Amino acid sequence: MLRPFIAGNWKMNLTLKESKDLAGSIRADIEGMQGVDVGAFPPSVFLESVYSVLKGSSIILGAQNMHWEDNGAFTGEVSGSMIKDVGCTHVILGHSERRHIFGETDSMINLKLRAAFARGIMPIFCLGERLEERESGKTFKVIEKQLKTGLEGLKPDDVSMLTIAYEPVWAIGTGKNATPAQAQEVHGHIRALLEESHGEDVSTRVRIQYGGSVKPDNAAEILAQPDINGLLIGGASLKKDSFCKIVSVAFEQVRSPV
Ligand code: PEP
Repeated sequence: MLRPFIAGNWKMNLTLKESKDLAGSIRADIEGMQGVDVGAFPPSVFLESVYSVLKGSSIILGAQNMHWEDNGAFTGEVSGSMIKDVGCTHVILGHSERRHIFGETDSMINLKLRAAFARGIMPIFCLGERLEERESGKTFKVIEKQLKTGLEGLKPDDVSMLTIAYEPVWAIGTGKNATPAQAQEVHGHIRALLEESHGEDVSTRVRIQYGGSVKPDNAAEILAQPDINGLLIGGASLKKDSFCKIVSVAFEQVRSPV
C-alpha cells in the first residue's frame, strides 16, 4: 500500500489570521498520526506565515502554482526558488482552475513540472476531464493527452516521485463527486498508461490522488479503491473539523487495511 497523501488546497480563501489558525489547529489535531502524508496549500502571500506555524511538524507545505522561469519580467508570478525560500517542498501544478480560467496548456504545465523537479520541489500534477468530454466518451483520451504532454522529457526517477491528482472538472466545488467506481476506473487507466510509458516499477510508485467534492462522509469509500492513494481537497480543507476527519479516515485505513 502506498502511503496516502491528503492535501488541502485552500485556493484564494481565508485571511492571514485564519490561515495561521487553521494550520495551527490541523497541526494540533493530527499530532501523533503516522503513516499518512498531510499537506497544506495556502495562498502564496501566506506561505511564509503558515510555514512558521508548521515548522518542525510533519505537515507538508506547498504552493498552489509556480512559474517555470526562476526570475524575470513575469509580473504577478512566483517562481520555484521563491516558494522554496518561504518553506515549500511541494507545489500544485495544472489545477483545472489554472487550466480553464487562466488558460494554462498541457505544454505550459510540462514546463512547470520540469522546473519544479529541477529545483527539488515535489509537484502534485492535476488532470481531469470536463463534463462535455465525459458525456461524449472522451475521458480516457483527454487524460492520455494531459498525461503524455505533461510528462514529456521528465526523468523516470522524477516521474516515480510524482503525485498525480485526478480531478474530474465537473466534480470540483460542485458537490457532485465521481462514484468510487468511476474514480477507480480512471485511476486504473492512469496507472496502466504510466506502466506503458515508464514501466511497472515507476507506475506502482506514483501516488494518484482523487479530487472533487470529497467530504468526511465519502472519503472512506473513495480511499478504499485500489488505485486511489490520497485526496486533494478544496472546500472541505478550509475547516479544521472536516479536513482532520478526512485525515483520520485515511489514518484508520492505514492502521487496519480493508
Ligand atoms: C480542488 O479544487 O482541487 C477540489 C477538489 O475542490 P473541492 O474539494 O471543493 O471540489
